[in-house]
Amino acid sequence: MSTTVTAPSSFIRNIITEDLQAGKNEGRVVTRFPPEPNGYLHIGHAKSICLNFSLAGDFGGRCHLRMDDTNPEKESDEYAEAIKEMVHWLGFEWGEHLYYASDYYEQLYQYAADLVKAGKAFVCSLNAEQMREHRGTLTEPGNASPYRERSVEENLDLFARMRSGEFEDGAHTLRAKIDMASPNMNLRDPVIYRIQRAHHYRTGDTWCIYPMYDFAHPVSDAIEGITHSICTLEFEDHRPLYDWFLAQLPQLPHPQQIEFARLNLGYTVMSKRKLLELVEKGDVQGWDDPRMPSLVGLRRRGFTPGAIRTFCERIGVGKSDSWIDMGVLEDCVREELNETAPRAMGVLNPLKVVIENYPEGQEETFEAPVHPQKPEMGTRTVPFSREIYIERDDFMEDPPKKFFRLGPGREVRLRCAYFIKCEEVVRDEQSGEIIELRCSYDPETRGGSAPDGRKVKGTIHWVSAAHALDAEVRLYDRLFTVSNPGAKSGGDYREALNPESLKVLKGCKLEPGLAEAAPASTYQFERQGYFCVDAESSTQAPVFNRTVTLRDSWAKQA
Ligand code: ATP
Ligand code: MG
Repeated sequence: MSTTVTAPSSFIRNIITEDLQAGKNEGRVVTRFPPEPNGYLHIGHAKSICLNFSLAGDFGGRCHLRMDDTNPEKESDEYAEAIKEMVHWLGFEWGEHLYYASDYYEQLYQYAADLVKAGKAFVCSLNAEQMREHRGTLTEPGNASPYRERSVEENLDLFARMRSGEFEDGAHTLRAKIDMASPNMNLRDPVIYRIQRAHHYRTGDTWCIYPMYDFAHPVSDAIEGITHSICTLEFEDHRPLYDWFLAQLPQLPHPQQIEFARLNLGYTVMSKRKLLELVEKGDVQGWDDPRMPSLVGLRRRGFTPGAIRTFCERIGVGKSDSWIDMGVLEDCVREELNETAPRAMGVLNPLKVVIENYPEGQEETFEAPVHPQKPEMGTRTVPFSREIYIERDDFMEDPPKKFFRLGPGREVRLRCAYFIKCEEVVRDEQSGEIIELRCSYDPETRGGSAPDGRKVKGTIHWVSAAHALDAEVRLYDRLFTVSNPGAKSGGDYREALNPESLKVLKGCKLEPGLAEAAPASTYQFERQGYFCVDAESSTQAPVFNRTVTLRDSWAKQA
């Protein structure tokens, strides 16, 4: 996988700049983000959102949010509302320019009737299978529908009766009359309207015919006065059709379609259909499962809108398909959180330490900086007592040379507290597992340095046992074990799900101040990574989601 970094959306910017210089569109720049409300938005959509809204912003134009809701069976208000929420969350504002393709149904119908009147569309009575047979192949031209030469009057009459519900679903379609021999299959008399008795989440049962995307999209763009209709590369072959429809409707303005390469992220899938399937089959716990590439999932994981915007800028916008490593997104998150996240100590895999020469019942507190480089963020109070927890990994009974943490007879610094030295290892009699360390501390080293100038090589984090906040911590790994699960040939992409994508650690011990942590707030657990309070859990012990580790762990694995 490779990452290409280009100037943000340079080629589209160039097109718009040239258009403005040439005086096109009276100097207006109007873009749109047109999601279909049939699922939650994912990080790929974020690329499109950032692109469309920033272009509009940078050129003094505006960006519309349009629900592309012409597919009643799969769409819902829940999805539409979630889309609005996520666009706002990302930091973009459509103002009064919220639109629904379903609001244009009457207009779309009239424009389709205009095509019929101009002899550019006809009602076809082939069924789906016959239509496929007539369509031809990439190497052979198609055959004209026997209904292609119906008169304008007959077509108008049939089209009106399609609308009024006289015919069964699928009995007729309205088709554009273009060219059955076109090498571009999209131009072989494509369907414009189908009969479908389906309840629409906004128009209810008003309509039993629905326009196809390829017709609804250019006309909706034109109705809204969009100047630059930016979409992903798979629509390149549809552009001649986009232009054809608008050429037949000269009463409408003619936006320019521009294609760019979609975002592909490694080790995940990004089609709403597949994401929905993961949710429905219970592979993940919902659209907002922190392993999902959905924006609600990333938000719950602790990713910030700023980091996602930085990511979209960094990956740039080009014309050729590229794969981006998840590590690029994680870097953006890490860079932001390094600046903003308060620090705390959290022991994920606790090992008890008893400081034998520290008086029983005594306790004291230390003031530690909330952020080591930002004194303006203040300090926090950390309690200390005779029994503490340290990370199991920070002790080795038989440490190799380069291990600078705790071992028998070795001395380390407890972050912002004292030097301690390991005097004895206590094991479980039966299992032989280490259950406790007996240590001594040097009272002269309060605050972390020794007056006699002696040095220790390691500093470890810790939490006072009596004061610790018990918590559950969830660690996330890539959702799939292969870099492109969507392309898995033959098999089901779900077979490539990573069984270890979620690891739940119970009984973690956190600095007590974290009891005050607000839902969704993110902390750096020193030496461990960034963790955010899970906003959806209402268990007694708080739940923290690991957002990212401190360093890139993907580079090594990939
Ligand atoms: P999916 O394949 O995930 O269902 P879609 O294209 O069907 O996506 P839409 O709701 O139609 O979903 O997408 C809205 C807009 O977001 C479209 O303009 C589409 O081109 C863009 N978009 C979707 N996926 C990506 C992606 N991976 N990278 C960039 N833009 C994307
Ligand atoms: Mg789509």
